Amino acid sequence: MLTCKEAEKMVMPYIDEELGEKELDAFLEHIKDCSLCREELEIYYTVAVGLRQLDSGAGVYDITGALEESLDLAWLKVRAARLRKVICYGVETVFTTGVLTALILQLRIWWQAGFFR
Ligand SMILES: [Zn+2]
Repeated sequence: MLTCKEAEKMVMPYIDEELGEKELDAFLEHIKDCSLCREELEIYYTVAVGLRQLDSGAGVYDITGALEESLDLAWLKVRAARLRKVICYGVETVFTTGVLTALILQLRIWWQAGFFR
């Protein structure tokens, strides 16, 4: 679990989409449960996105909605990363089990052929 101080430091990198999968995961988990940091993110996000819009002259636009959307996307990213980890682990387990089974079968064949007697 992140401390608020650590989460605070990740607010700007989050907005700039500079967080890695692991950091993003920890950051989102913290934001979900901590209303203080969530508020902080909202403020920074509003300012950062607002300034960028002024620069690009994109006009008025729903910043709170944009943050929601950004968080949804970030969650998707994190869930995909978690799922990938589970699948990798599953494949590895199946593979290891397969190799072990093949080895045991091979040993049995050798045993039956009398190699060990
Ligand atoms: Zn916090």
